[in-house]
Amino acid sequence: MAKKSKQQKKDILQPRPPVVVVLGHVDSGKTSILDYIRKTHVVEKESGGITQHIGAYQVDCQGKSITFIDTPGHEAFSAMRSRGARVADIAILVVDACEGIKPQTKEAISHIKKAGIPMIIAINKIDRPEAQSEKVKGALLKEEVAVESMGGDIPCVEVSAKTGQGINELLEMMILIGEMNELHGDDKKPAEGVVVESYLDPKRGPTATVLIRDGSTVAGDVVGTASAYGKIKTLENFQSKKIDKALPSCPVIVTGFNEVPEVGEKFYKRESLEEALSYFQKKERKKIGEGEVLKIEPGKKVLNLIIKADVRGSIQAIQEILKVLPMDEVILRTLKTEVGEINESDVKLAMASNASIIGFRIKATPNAVSLAERSGVKVLIYDIIYELAQGVRSLMNNLIKPEIVRHDLGRMEVLAIFRTEKNRQIVGGRVISGEVKRGTKIEVMRNEEIVGKGKLIQLQQNKREIDRISQNQECGILFEGDAKIQEGDALEFYEEEKTKHTV
Ligand code: GDP
Repeated sequence: MAKKSKQQKKDILQPRPPVVVVLGHVDSGKTSILDYIRKTHVVEKESGGITQHIGAYQVDCQGKSITFIDTPGHEAFSAMRSRGARVADIAILVVDACEGIKPQTKEAISHIKKAGIPMIIAINKIDRPEAQSEKVKGALLKEEVAVESMGGDIPCVEVSAKTGQGINELLEMMILIGEMNELHGDDKKPAEGVVVESYLDPKRGPTATVLIRDGSTVAGDVVGTASAYGKIKTLENFQSKKIDKALPSCPVIVTGFNEVPEVGEKFYKRESLEEALSYFQKKERKKIGEGEVLKIEPGKKVLNLIIKADVRGSIQAIQEILKVLPMDEVILRTLKTEVGEINESDVKLAMASNASIIGFRIKATPNAVSLAERSGVKVLIYDIIYELAQGVRSLMNNLIKPEIVRHDLGRMEVLAIFRTEKNRQIVGGRVISGEVKRGTKIEVMRNEEIVGKGKLIQLQQNKREIDRISQNQECGILFEGDAKIQEGDALEFYEEEKTKHTV
């Protein structure tokens, strides 16, 4: 058969919506822009809005679709953001008109440049009186991002997520850039895509949002990623509505996998289960069986963790943020990461291995809570990733032994021994330097050598109990310790302070 001409090839292709990712520094307004767009441009179906844990959705702009990758807008999710930039056709770089360029903005610029995709600058918060769009454009130029009005070719739209000003223009720009880049797909081809979110649904089993990059897929197709495969049981759009076929640029919710696929993995339609299996690289997941003991080695400080989270994306983000904690003194060892609530077997594993359980946006079952309480296993649950990192940091700090700093208080010369019991003595003497305080520690010195140690239990002056006494005064003390004090000995009084440095 003769090869198809370029035109013929083009004829069998269909235009597909652009896939857009929104990047920018924390608080630049990414979430607000996406929220505004979602509120004003998602066509509400009977089934209602967008369910949680989707990771991608489509909006309508004058009859044309745009697919958004909804990457969590937190800097801790930079791993996911960089992944976001790779699966997208267009990147929106949000810059705060008042705050300007931040280190994260530079990081985002480098992600976008590495991904080699067109970028649109959205200068946000122009409703605010302090907005300085021109200054932002100048600062961008310094980062080698030349917007159109600065003699470059990078489109720039001034917007306000608060008032909606410029948002339509921004969406139209996405459509325009998409069309200029001739984004096409071939729905006759077997589907290929990327997992953008995944989790274990208690009722439906492993569930993933897949962004179809090219080709198409229908329920019943055999599909696979590197870590999971299966026959598609249900195929739904981002509004959880059953669909017959997923087309290029479509975000779809897929069930039927044997395991929860990893976020960021490539997704392919396979010919058969046998073929899917041959691609399925079973990961060497080191399963630590219940009861297996992984005690902390003496002298080596190791913090064992069991991490449970709502979705795979969260686990990846947690791993990213934990990686950057300083581990010179305490090593973090993750025994298990899993999607789902904290259950009894997690607590049993924690008991057997001296581990703490960290939960993120999930709950613990009542049985797990009571077992943890009875066995003293620490279970910490967070909703905010930075608080989680802080929590782990303080667990690490708890493992660091305190340093003991000695503070010398004073010295007394023993003039008389009034009474001697088994490990207690009442002695009298004169304070020759500093001061003497009740409750302090004592070193017994004889000829400038330490002959024993003890504690000052009671301090008396003229038969009256007192708290402290200073130089040149005489007093009686009740000493408790391992030495037998003799007349002529000197007593050194000191306190010890525990100071703790942190990781
Ligand atoms: P993100 O961290 O980039 O997702 O930023 P957010 O969307 O959470 O916004 C950070 C803060 O800026 C919030 O308090 C928003 O209400 C505010 N904000 C976002 N966009 C605008 C805007 O266009 N105008 C004004 N005045 N405030 C905004």
